[in-house]
Amino acid sequence: MTETKYVYPFGGGSAEGRSDMKNLLGGKGANLAEMANLGIPVPAGFTLTTEVCTYYYDHGRSYPPALEAEANAAMAKVEQIMGKRFGDPADPLLVSVRSGARSSMPGMMETVLNIGLCSATIPGLIAKTGNPRFVYDAYRRLIMMYSDVVMEKAAGVEVAEGRGIRQQLDRMLEEVKHARGCASDAEIGADDLKDLAERFKATIRKVLRKPFPDDPREQLWGGIGAVFASWNGKRAVSYRRIEGIPDDWGTAVNVQAMVFGNMGGGSATGVAFTRNPATGDNRFYGEWLANAQGEDVVAGIRTPNPLNEATKNEQNAHLPSLETAMPEVYRQLHDIRDHLERHFTDMQDIEFTIQDGRLWMLQTRIGKRTGTAALNVAMDMLAEGMISKETAVLRVKPEQLDELLHPIVDPAAEKGGDLIAKGLPAGPGGARGQVVFTAEAAVQAAKEGKGVLLVREETNPEDVEGMRAAVGILTARGGMTSHAALVARGWGKCCIVGAGALDIDAVARTISVNGRTFGEGDVLTLNGTRGLVYAGELPMIDATENPRFVDFMRIADSIRVLKVRTNADTPADARNAIEFGAEGIGLFRTEHMFYGKGSEEPLFLLRKMIMAGTEKKRRAALNELFPFVKRDIKATLEVMSPRPVTIRLLDPPLHEFVPQGKEERKKLAKALHVSQKKLAERAAELHESNPMMGHRGVRLGVTFPEISEMQVRAILEAALELRQAGLEVFPEIMVPVTGMKAELDNQLALAKKVHAEVCAKYRVDSIEHLYGTMIEIPRAALTADEIAKSTQFFSFGTNDLTQMTFGFSRDDIGGFLPDYLDKKILPVDPFQVIDRDSVGVLIRTGIERGRSTRPNLKVGICGEHGGEPSSVEFCHLVGMDYVSCSPFRVPIARLAAAQAQIRYPRK
Ligand code: ADP
Ligand code: MG
Ligand code: MG
Repeated sequence: MTETKYVYPFGGGSAEGRSDMKNLLGGKGANLAEMANLGIPVPAGFTLTTEVCTYYYDHGRSYPPALEAEANAAMAKVEQIMGKRFGDPADPLLVSVRSGARSSMPGMMETVLNIGLCSATIPGLIAKTGNPRFVYDAYRRLIMMYSDVVMEKAAGVEVAEGRGIRQQLDRMLEEVKHARGCASDAEIGADDLKDLAERFKATIRKVLRKPFPDDPREQLWGGIGAVFASWNGKRAVSYRRIEGIPDDWGTAVNVQAMVFGNMGGGSATGVAFTRNPATGDNRFYGEWLANAQGEDVVAGIRTPNPLNEATKNEQNAHLPSLETAMPEVYRQLHDIRDHLERHFTDMQDIEFTIQDGRLWMLQTRIGKRTGTAALNVAMDMLAEGMISKETAVLRVKPEQLDELLHPIVDPAAEKGGDLIAKGLPAGPGGARGQVVFTAEAAVQAAKEGKGVLLVREETNPEDVEGMRAAVGILTARGGMTSHAALVARGWGKCCIVGAGALDIDAVARTISVNGRTFGEGDVLTLNGTRGLVYAGELPMIDATENPRFVDFMRIADSIRVLKVRTNADTPADARNAIEFGAEGIGLFRTEHMFYGKGSEEPLFLLRKMIMAGTEKKRRAALNELFPFVKRDIKATLEVMSPRPVTIRLLDPPLHEFVPQGKEERKKLAKALHVSQKKLAERAAELHESNPMMGHRGVRLGVTFPEISEMQVRAILEAALELRQAGLEVFPEIMVPVTGMKAELDNQLALAKKVHAEVCAKYRVDSIEHLYGTMIEIPRAALTADEIAKSTQFFSFGTNDLTQMTFGFSRDDIGGFLPDYLDKKILPVDPFQVIDRDSVGVLIRTGIERGRSTRPNLKVGICGEHGGEPSSVEFCHLVGMDYVSCSPFRVPIARLAAAQAQIRYPRK
């Protein structure tokens, strides 16, 4: 067996790693290696693999014995390339220690810069650079980061909110800035910085009861250990949970020679996107700061400068662009931008630093973007010939469509809106809600089902759960590339950052702006697409279908083989769904007409039927109900013409329709001319201890055939009359809650009888329709070969099928499912994502067995899962004909189906 290789060097025009080694080197390390291989200037360094992380956690937080020697050899290489030695008092090499997970987790893990500065190396660096201010600035940064990341967080020191070492040191820095009247950190002088560094160290010794290490090697290994430890830090863990990143992936660690953006006026640092990540515009877009180190831009501490003239906005128009300040470097950076896009054929998110006029690249990765940007970038790159149409279709995540279809602030109402501030449009769409000032409050509000806006001075990565829970995010500071903006954009969440006019007091929980004050609970409206903040509540409208979207979906539709239907019960929903691209109705719930607006009369008749003591009385009531049912079905069939409509026979247990309140019952008794006692008796008879598994679905039709007969008659007459009026309609009669073939035969006999009667009445030979069943009980899936002999289609009702398979009551999971997810007993909610190991096996078995006796059996799904991308993929894999989901999820399902076909082609 060969020895495991734990360290991969890069730099000097070559590297041992490559961009396709992300699993081993993490995203950052793999792409640093790739850039080095492309000849792009990257400071030399080396990557400790994710396997070191795995080893570290498997072995009580210790390293593989071979690691140190390998790291030393790699460091020697870096020293050779950079022409400096780590720890050399005369001309010291400094390094950064950077985390790098497989998939990027912006701001969630730790980085320490300027490692290697200590009493032995400081004088040498000052002599070498002739710039004491720079050296002490680097030193105070090292102390601040190291004490926070290594000595406090990684050491597991618990601190009260606002009492962390970082905040304490920050306050000391602020005091000096204040006392000296400096507008920014960059103005603090060398002596003050030197003095500050000494006082920092004293504070650290006092607060953390440990000295700040004065030895470069100790700093280096302290930093490395802290990055590995940060993998299990609280915010990294919550981010992984939200993004579905497995805990066992581990992070890599990159040790990289420092280059300095804080060496003076000719130095700078910045972050950029090769295209605009909010809109997708094909223009180089970014932010930079002169005389600063990288974290200054990403931390959202100062409002950064625009990268170029073309992308200036209202907030930064007065600031200098890199294009004008350093034209030569900008041109070089622009060339690298083109090179990276050509190479990776996708929009990149890059970090760069300019040291004394020399450009260095520090990171490139696929840029997170809004749904709008994803769509536009994909369509542009397709037009540019950079990617194929399949790749274009894969570039937009189905979930992102949600955002494209999401509401925006009504532009008409916005004109008269009470505009209180402007900020940067970091995440698109509109949002409105009550204001909260802490992440905890946002999480709490979300639990109560309230949509709130999270308002922060600046967000920090610890707010991630609150950002997730809020409907919109608003901050007073930070730029478009701040972590808050990145994260919000990744989620397609409405977000405004850098609304500088707002004075946010998180302690008093107030926002002051132009003499006005808003407090917790006050309502604001955000236009995240334009960065506008309004007092009060403005109306929202649906984003209009843009032609780009229509073109994109047309391409997706040309690829997919799975059809997409919708679950709809009303003509309005049906019409909506057609707009979204529905190709039919997969589930029309007949009981819908007994709820809500206009339901009084039919509901009364239904109740009358339920209360009837004899079949004769029941039939009489059903006859009265019949015209309502027929009209209801006819209206939806008409809207859907010429598309198929699956109409489900009555599903809920009858007692659901019996009024519970005393007054209601009294009224009903009176209207039905029965005594209240009799009514109460009948209601008691209907009571069930486990209605989910009680007298419902086909069981009703077996006990009360007249109910099914009436419904079948309504369906066939409605269809026939529409046909006679010249419309093509395709009703599919669906029997719910079936477990046995005999149940279906029982209902089929009666359907046939009704069919013959209707044909006779209208003098036709036959009425085109299908007869089929839901498969939502495990027995039905297991005996599907038998069941298929009596039915022409199956529709998997995966809500009930999941309930029956897990033995989890759909109505009661709230009590325990969150614990199951928290404790990782279940990876996801099986009611949202099909559990392929159980429900999935039943579905696969059901389809195989069903088609074994009826090869042309039509198969679909009508549970909630039909609009969830990974479940849609599963439906594609098992050979279903269609999925059906709520109207809003139809586009999501269409795209998911196209992506499934690209990944797993099927005839
Ligand atoms: P994150 O993943 O949070 O972005 P990074 O490891 O990229 O963390 O580092 C944070 C900041 O420090 C970035 O702006 C990066 O460019 C900068 N940085 C990291 N290493 C170096 C280095 N060797 N020289 C100069 N700047 C660096
Ligand atoms: Mg970091
Ligand atoms: Mg970074």
